[in-house]
Amino acid sequence: MKCPVCNLEMVVLEFNSVEIDYCHECFGVWLDSGELALLLDNQTKYQRLADSFAFQKKVKETPRKCPICRKKMDKVACGSRQNIVIDKCRGDHGFWFDKRELYDLLEDSFDSESSELKEFLKNIFKIKN
Ligand SMILES: [Zn+2]
Ligand SMILES: [Zn+2]
Repeated sequence: MKCPVCNLEMVVLEFNSVEIDYCHECFGVWLDSGELALLLDNQTKYQRLADSFAFQKKVKETPRKCPICRKKMDKVACGSRQNIVIDKCRGDHGFWFDKRELYDLLEDSFDSESSELKEFLKNIFKIKN
């Protein structure tokens, strides 16, 4: 699968047997539909996140194309203050997170609660404490 930002081949990382497509160039992350729920491994948490998602009509951020269907994705604001803007395929293929966005979203939504997933993301995004 190619990165929607750099157009370079992404690598597949695995976390608890969930596949995460990751770009070494821009540190972006692609999650297929359903993988976000699998990653969180908790329906309540996933629901909390999903409930915060709000479709944005006007966003300055460059539109990105879905790496699967190549169609322009929607911008979706999420997080407690809807301050994190991610890209979602209109055909529901999945979500694109720019560098750190996935980590920031978890941090924002689940406070400083530490988790294996956050440690894993910190590692791939090279976030230092
Ligand atoms: Zn990239
Ligand atoms: Zn798509």
